[in-house]
Amino acid sequence: MINKKKNKYKSFIHKIIENDLVHMKKKNIHTRFPPDPNGNLHIGHAKSIYINFKIAEQYQGKCNLRFDDTYPHINHKKYINSIQKDILWLGYQWNQKIRYASQYFDKMYKYAIQLIKKNLAYVDKLKKEEIRIYRGTLKKPGIVSPYRKQTIEENMLLFENMKFGNIPEGDACLRAKIDMQSNSIIMRDPILYRIKFLEHHNTKNQWCIYPTYDFAHCISDAIEGITHSLCTLEFQENKKIYNWILNNIDINHYPKQYEYSRLNLEYSTLSKRKLQILIDNNIVDSWNDPRLPTLSGLRNRGYTPHAIREFCKKVGITKQDNLIEISSLESCIRKELNITAYRTMAILNPIEIVICNIPEKYIEKIKILNHPKNKNMGYRNIIFSKIIYIERNDFQEKSSKNYNRLTLGGSVKLKYSYIITANSIHKDCNNNITRIFCTCDLTNKNKKKYGIIHWISKEQAEQAQLILYNHIFTTKNPNKKSNILSYINKNSKIIKNGLINSELKKQKKINTYQFERIGYFYKNKKFSENKHPIIHQIVQIKKKNNII
Ligand code: ATP
Ligand code: MG
Repeated sequence: MINKKKNKYKSFIHKIIENDLVHMKKKNIHTRFPPDPNGNLHIGHAKSIYINFKIAEQYQGKCNLRFDDTYPHINHKKYINSIQKDILWLGYQWNQKIRYASQYFDKMYKYAIQLIKKNLAYVDKLKKEEIRIYRGTLKKPGIVSPYRKQTIEENMLLFENMKFGNIPEGDACLRAKIDMQSNSIIMRDPILYRIKFLEHHNTKNQWCIYPTYDFAHCISDAIEGITHSLCTLEFQENKKIYNWILNNIDINHYPKQYEYSRLNLEYSTLSKRKLQILIDNNIVDSWNDPRLPTLSGLRNRGYTPHAIREFCKKVGITKQDNLIEISSLESCIRKELNITAYRTMAILNPIEIVICNIPEKYIEKIKILNHPKNKNMGYRNIIFSKIIYIERNDFQEKSSKNYNRLTLGGSVKLKYSYIITANSIHKDCNNNITRIFCTCDLTNKNKKKYGIIHWISKEQAEQAQLILYNHIFTTKNPNKKSNILSYINKNSKIIKNGLINSELKKQKKINTYQFERIGYFYKNKKFSENKHPIIHQIVQIKKKNNII
């Protein structure tokens, strides 16, 4: 039974589906995720995956994975593999075997012949540019192509010639015969097939004519028995062709198309074409660069599938086009890592502290929890000794208002340890402070009135390459800009030669940490050129606690 009370909290798509189920218009819900294997998946696709797979799951239905490989592409194989990997990583399993739109090329061809025979399609020999001009604009009606009046026999012969490779690329295409005066430009005789002499990953050289998205998509949906074909708003107009084709070919299944808004994310681009521009211009290393909103990039960054699914849930399904704040994505991973990440201390910009009032070989082990709220995550020992390192910006010579960290003559508490007081400093010939001489109060670890800073003792300090990431663009909505390359943030990746606790280097199973007061970090499998661990930032800790 469907609970009507709950209905008002459901998305418009859920309401449509439940209505269809109640009125028995549809018995089994069947959705599909139809990626074009011409690039890697990004967080926008994750939204689409989440919607399609989740809906199938919620209503005990099925969700197909269908590669929309209607147009040959040299990298199809590569992207088909990476897309499967990303979907499985996100935690979804498609219904039975993988499908390919190219599996249906034979059937699509037959449907094209049907349309020609019904005098509903014709071969147009206008050039691409002419077709564009003849199509007209919102204010100007379209102009009929001179080839539109060809007979069915002439069209059959021409289409056959297209198929057998007798017509060069760009010299002919198959168009639906709909209405060149239509108010909807998309209905002014849309193209159904075009010629392309390029090997296809699946059908090899069997075809040199390929169906367009508009022709292939509705037919593929119908063949697979899809009940609800969910796509993004830019296909709203295309729905007219979708329905026109299904109404005019002899097929006995009618999927319904519904549109929801695309995901747009601040300071990012979710256009495969623009992501490719960033790669081609060496702004990022590849599709899986941790700064990119691709699923492989987010995975490398240290995002978890759960955090991404939570984000998609939070974004929801609506028809409103909006730009989602990046902080919304960040809060999902932060919330998870706050519970799961091991706490440790690391220093981004170290400065040395000498504790003058303790002996040279003084070593004190301090047992602390790996997670302040979870004893089950165990304990670790940190070492306090004569030489320790703190952040350079946790010290300033003169005290100032609102600065509650270490100053010359002032005191600060070392987290989990003692209060230290800075008595003197050493500077190099460039006037840079190289060392701070302090004393510590060994009688008390618990005084509350001091600021608290993180630190690492020389005994446990291990050099590491710490990478900080920032937005890749300097503008919130780069998609509105014509040249995205003018809005690249040159500081999107900052490499620091910092210090970590040496235990981290040894840990094999743990790779995600909270560096106290800094943020959540992810340990790469690779090491830097000088054999230091590489650890990069996943996300900062909450702004109010953050020191960077
Ligand atoms: P292309 O420009 O290459 O067509 P695309 O972004 O439309 O790229 P597809 O591989 O065709 O990518 O998309 C597969 C599915 O994911 C489609 O149903 C599409 O509507 C959906 N999708 C793509 N981008 C987004 C996004 N930003 N938000 C939500 N859904 C998206
Ligand atoms: Mg697309």
